[in-house]
Amino acid sequence: MSQRADTIFAKIIRGELPCHRVYEDDLVLAFLDIFPISRGHTLVVPKRAAATLDVLDDDSSAAIGRVLPKISRAVLAATGARSFNVLQNNGADAHQAVFHVHFHIIPHYDDGSGLGIGWNASKLQTDEAVKIAASIAGKLS
Ligand code: 5GP
Repeated sequence: MSQRADTIFAKIIRGELPCHRVYEDDLVLAFLDIFPISRGHTLVVPKRAAATLDVLDDDSSAAIGRVLPKISRAVLAATGARSFNVLQNNGADAHQAVFHVHFHIIPHYDDGSGLGIGWNASKLQTDEAVKIAASIAGKLS
């Protein structure tokens, strides 16, 4: 069985499983997360299957980018939250559980509920920065 058939989100997109839908167009479906981190936690999902963002097709990427701000505004307006996180996990080690690309819109409330983030930052070293920036740029061509 293909990965497309296997994921829970593919089944939701095909209408085989229910969801609380908030938005739909030809390429995108958005619905409430079944285990919300905070009230209004919404998932924005491309209809075409791709396990992770780096292998998502350009049309789906553009379609997601077009609607993320609009859906975010609607989540804020509906919940009264004034801030939010957009989270997108890729790979099991990066906390991805469902291997069909999805963006979380997670409202953050004044009582502190919302996404908790561990951010282990370090100072960028110039030598390493020059090397890695050139390497990434080279891979884009
Ligand atoms: P990930 O860790 O892969 O970025 O997040 C997957 C998300 O999908 C989780 O927040 C989880 O609660 C949500 N989820 C898993 N199964 C279902 C489901 O059947 N329906 C809905 N609406 N959300 C789901």
